[in-house]
Order: sequence, then C-alpha cells, then structure tokens
Amino acid sequence: MTEEINNKKIVVRMAPSPTGNLHIGGARTALFNFLFAQKQNGKFILRIEDTDKERSKQEFEDNILESFEWLGLKYDELFRQSERTEIYVSYVKKMLENGSAYISKETPTEENPRTEVIRLKNPNKKIDFEDVIRGEVSFDTTELGDLVIAKSVNEPLYHLAVVVDDFEMGVTHVIRGEEHLSNTPRQILIQEAIGAPRPIYAHIPLILAPDRSKLSKRAGAVSVLEYKNQGILPESLLNYLALLGWNPGTEQEIFTLSELIEIFDLSRIHKGGAIFDAKKLDWVNKEHIKLLPREEQLKFIAKEFDATTTPVLEIEKIPWKTSNILEAKTHLEHVLTLMPHGDLIMKYAEEAGKGNVLWPLRYALSGLEKSPDPMTLMEILGGEESKKRVEAAIKILGQ
Ligand code: GLU
Repeated sequence: MTEEINNKKIVVRMAPSPTGNLHIGGARTALFNFLFAQKQNGKFILRIEDTDKERSKQEFEDNILESFEWLGLKYDELFRQSERTEIYVSYVKKMLENGSAYISKETPTEENPRTEVIRLKNPNKKIDFEDVIRGEVSFDTTELGDLVIAKSVNEPLYHLAVVVDDFEMGVTHVIRGEEHLSNTPRQILIQEAIGAPRPIYAHIPLILAPDRSKLSKRAGAVSVLEYKNQGILPESLLNYLALLGWNPGTEQEIFTLSELIEIFDLSRIHKGGAIFDAKKLDWVNKEHIKLLPREEQLKFIAKEFDATTTPVLEIEKIPWKTSNILEAKTHLEHVLTLMPHGDLIMKYAEEAGKGNVLWPLRYALSGLEKSPDPMTLMEILGGEESKKRVEAAIKILGQ
C-alpha cells in the first residue's frame, strides 16, 4: 500500500454520529484509523457527525469524547458538522451553478411535505473502486436515481456533508465499518460532482456475536466506558480490539499500543466478520495486568476486590475440597504464626499441599469463591487486617 499519495500527508478520520454511546465496533474503527495514522506519521481527525438534529445528543458526544480520552486515542483535530453548515451550503450553491445538481419539484407526501428538494444529477454509470480490504468493488449507480443531497439550499444532507468534509479536510484514506460500503458509490458520485479526488477506501468487517448474529448488548455491544467500569484496562481493550478482524501474522497476542503502531498494516485486516469473545478479552486483560508495575497492579486488583467488606464465611467452604475442618484449622493456625512472611507461608504450603493451605487462607481473607491469590490479598489488606480475618476463620472452625 502506498504510504503517501502524491507525497501528500496521510489524513484519516473517525466520524461517529452522536446518536448513541461509543461501542466496541466504533472503538475498533477509531483504533484502526489511529494506528494507521501513527504508523504513517499522518493526521487523525475526529469528526462528530451531528447533522441529524433530532437523534444527536450532547450526552453521546460527551460519551464519545470521554471514551477516546480513556482509551488514549489522541486525535490531531476535532470538528463538528453542526458548526460547518455554511461550508456545505457553499457547495450546494456551486453544484447548482455548475449543473451537477438541480432543484427538483416534488409531489408532497405525508412523510415528506416538501415541494422542492435538491438532487444530484446522476450520470448513471458504473463505479469501480479498489477497497484495501475487500478488493475490487463495482456498483452500477443507475439504480440510485438522482439522489437528494439537500432538503433545501440551506439544509444539506448527510452524504454531501461527509464528502465535502473529507475533501476539505484532505482525507486520504476512509477507514470505516462495512455497513458504509453501500454509501460509497453515492459518495463517489458527489465527489466527482464537486471535483474532489477519490480517497482510498478500507471497509472493516463487522463484529459478530459468537453465533454469528449481529452483536447485541448481551454479547458485548456495550459502551466502551462500561468496560472501564468492569475493570478492563484501556490497553487491554485496544489490544483485544486490534485482534478482532486483524492479525499480526505471528503467534504473538499481547501487544502494547506502541507495538501495535509498529506492526499494524491495513492489508492484514480480514474480509470475514470477526467474532466477539468476552473470555478472550478477559484473558488479554489479565495478561496486561501482569505487565503493570506491582504497585499499580495492587491498586487495580484492590479496586476490583472490595477490601472494605468483612467477609462472611461459610464454615464448609473453608477447607480445601480434599481436606476437612480440623486440617483447615491446623493450617490456618500455623499460617498465623508465619504471617506476614509470604515466603514462609509458601514454603509451608509446598510441604503441606498448596490447596490444603492456600485455599483456606484465600477464602478466609476474601470470603469469595474466586478472588486474587492469598499473597496478593495479604498485600492489599495489610498485615493487621489479614491476621484479623484468619483469626476470624479459625474461630468459626473451632466452634
Ligand atoms: N457517521 C457515520 C457513523 O456514525 C460514519 C460515516 C463515515 O465513516 O463515513 O457511522
């Protein structure tokens, strides 16, 4: 793939409509644009496509901006289409003047009471373009008819705004979701009418649920910020999203953002839909937590693990499954004498059986079936609180 078109700087954009929160599909599109721009030393634009006044909401724009911030996807410029109407209007006027568009008299209907709209004069031709991901794409535009590009001179519509912006902003590569593929011939017709060069297109395949259906909320189509609340690190989410529909061509699966920038390549994006796998995301997250400095790791684990609730223990859950109450009590009593020395406790556990010692200790400290390991718990809780919890477990076992 050519790194620069006619020595022009690479410019890409992510163009979300603020009609909903930023979901993982949008985050992945943003990531691919970001990685490509960074790798090519290009420019990454964030363009809020808020021309639909009824559906666009401030809270969604806030959510999109906060998601970008949390993910660390830095953009070079930010635009809002609602602030650019004058620019679009000037193009509508130009198109009316040069005859590539015309005022069309309409028969008013209940849905559309207008008696006039502005339509593009469709040259009715075949349009071929080379999509970086999908290869050769060909459309006959005859069936599109003369598309409406503005409700009136002062009310430009979506496709016109997109094309004008891509042109005015010098966008060289349009990297976006596959759902926009059918918009491309319409947009190319408008480009040709305004004399804009054609950008390179890359349409990214959809993200699917495990049963290959459309991704729903249950299967993972949640707002990016919900992953934040679930304890997913931004670097984990980015790493996981990079692997959704793209692969580095090696066995490596855990990447930092700078590693991704280094190796990302549009031509390795797959054509087929990518399946969202929540378990894999969790695994990627665990691997990234391991990469954090110990102190941050503990802070992170502590946040996940509610250390302020004194655990409510069920006596039968304290012993390891092949052990019994008496043995669990003996082990905990011995552990108490070794605390806070993690290394001595580990040595004892190796001698007496890891499960026999570490399970009751972990359960005594957390009161949970699943939790971080007991050594981490002791670090989070501190010596005094850990001892208190082990004593409490011994007391229950002694009843
Ligand atoms: N505004 C469109 C969306 O939210 C994206 C348009 C584009 O990338 O060309 O899906």
